[in-house]
Amino acid sequence: MTAKILVVDDILPNVKLLEARLTAEYFDVTTATNGTDALAVCAREDCDLLLLDVMMPGMDGFEVCRRIKKNPSTMHLPVIMVTALDQPSDRVKGLEAGADDFLTKPIDEIALVARVRSLARLKVVLDDLRSRASTAVALGMPDPFTTALAEEGLGGRILLVDDRAASAAQTVFALRDKYLVEVAADPHDGAAKALGGSYDMVIVSLGLQGFDALRLCSQIRSQDRTRQLPILCLAEMEDRTRVLRALDLGVNDFLMRPLDSNELLARVRTNLRRKRYAEKLRDNVQASLELAVVDSLTGLNNRRYFEMHLSTLVAQAADCARPLSLMILDIDHFKGVNDTYGHEAGDKILKGFAKRVRKVIRIPDMLCRLGGEEFVVVMPDTNMDVAARIAERVRAEIGQERFIVDESGTAIGITVSIGLAERGMDNLPDGLFRRADRALYRSKSNGRNRVSADAA
Ligand code: GH3
Ligand code: MG
Ligand code: MG
Repeated sequence: MTAKILVVDDILPNVKLLEARLTAEYFDVTTATNGTDALAVCAREDCDLLLLDVMMPGMDGFEVCRRIKKNPSTMHLPVIMVTALDQPSDRVKGLEAGADDFLTKPIDEIALVARVRSLARLKVVLDDLRSRASTAVALGMPDPFTTALAEEGLGGRILLVDDRAASAAQTVFALRDKYLVEVAADPHDGAAKALGGSYDMVIVSLGLQGFDALRLCSQIRSQDRTRQLPILCLAEMEDRTRVLRALDLGVNDFLMRPLDSNELLARVRTNLRRKRYAEKLRDNVQASLELAVVDSLTGLNNRRYFEMHLSTLVAQAADCARPLSLMILDIDHFKGVNDTYGHEAGDKILKGFAKRVRKVIRIPDMLCRLGGEEFVVVMPDTNMDVAARIAERVRAEIGQERFIVDESGTAIGITVSIGLAERGMDNLPDGLFRRADRALYRSKSNGRNRVSADAA
């Protein structure tokens, strides 16, 4: 995996150092020495991720970050803030400006590669969601990013696997205001609990006595229910090789002892926020896309969905030289039902109507609500003779029993008029639809409650 990293720092030697280290890890690097230039690179879509220095003359890093995150065309870019070690409050300020992660100067090489790698990996996932999100937006749905971005990374249950009581107490103390931390002093107990899957995050001490902490991490990664669970490792300074192993196993992040409680809190928050952001985005995209193609009253697919899929179904039928028929249904005198019984009763009938039609057509038939009291069924592998029989079945199902629309048992009888057409040699979806619509018109003008077929 490679990514284009934009390094922003006003001090040239800093830029050169980061550039050298990242290039050695096979990342592409571009550089900027001030905020304005950095924003221009982002606007050109010329980078995948930013390493952003806080202290810069003119526009500081916080402001650059805020602008990137406020602009809809750049807000998806991950930002890693580079803060001074003696300014712990900068990390919180960075998170508030919308930064995705932070590094402290002097920059530790393992931390640099770990943070960049993990965000570059996440960006691949997000880019895919982003293109689907833009489909949702193009369909007129709310932008899935807006609510996902509000995620703060606060609150949640954390499991701490640490057999050293003093160190565990310190960790619990640092997190106590924002998180519920449960300590597993016995590593075996910790492993069972972690794999049970009811935590938002696991913190593992790499120095467990008589227990392989790395094995625990790899177990968590290999189980389905915990594959996405964020893992943070706590390590001794001399444990650097094990930290590298841990990161290779898919551990999300690490902290060196002695723990700085401010840093610990910020790291936990960053990792939780990132995970929840991705989850929320995925759910939002899903919901938006569903909303775009589903009619909320009947739960059927809507006209948009019908239009998107009709041409595919027609093309498939043509490819395999199979028949395909289409039926348009329109409830008779429905305006009268609304006028007499009210709109709510009308809605109940529409729901009941959809259910009854669904019941008598076949599984592969695609039933959609076109709008109002008009529906359509696309029937693959169905010639006109069969389609006519199905249409009669639908007509009978609707007409034979009245629809109950309230608790007191008010029953309303309705009928439906149907128009049918079969795929012709031209294979034009629009033509097919028009022919079925003309047939429907004949059903209406010949007295309603009947099925008419396109003559062609
Ligand atoms: P026809 O037999 O010629 O089809 O007469 P009609 O009254 O069914 O047709 P028309 O197109 O004149 O009226 C359709 C009515 O459907 C108008 C509107 O009151 C009603 N309608 C459309 N959408 C909805 C809906 O979502 N809920 C309810 N309750 N009624 C709807
Ligand atoms: Mg109508
Ligand atoms: Mg009607």
